[in-house]
Amino acid sequence: MDMQFELDHIAIAVEGLDQGFEFYKTLGFTQMETEEVPSEKVKTGFLKLGNRANIELLEPMSDDSTVRKFLDKRGPGIHHICLRVKGIDKILVELKSKGVRLINEQAKLGAHNCRVAFIHPASTGGVLIELSEKPSVEG
Ligand code: ZN
Repeated sequence: MDMQFELDHIAIAVEGLDQGFEFYKTLGFTQMETEEVPSEKVKTGFLKLGNRANIELLEPMSDDSTVRKFLDKRGPGIHHICLRVKGIDKILVELKSKGVRLINEQAKLGAHNCRVAFIHPASTGGVLIELSEKPSVEG
């Protein structure tokens, strides 16, 4: 199977989006809209870079958010990288058959109505990887 991946964004866990945005706006990055993602219990805010990749800031919305746990354990920092894919359902089946450890065997709804799934850091060299497929035109 032909799998193609593009860097979509790098996500950084922060205590608050506003503090996070401040630094990146100092660099002249354009702040995009913020959005709550109930499935992850996070508030996200994207910053646009000069190419197609973005930076995503993640603020926990509740104490049982995985981002809250991440901040308590490791402090602010890089939380995951996101690769854009096409045909996420087939890719997840393929990766599972190859023994890759998936956090989500089925894609779920992420920011911007993308369908997303996470690969466990145990399979990736210690980095949480998100796979994301943009919503189809008709959806
Ligand atoms: Zn992300």
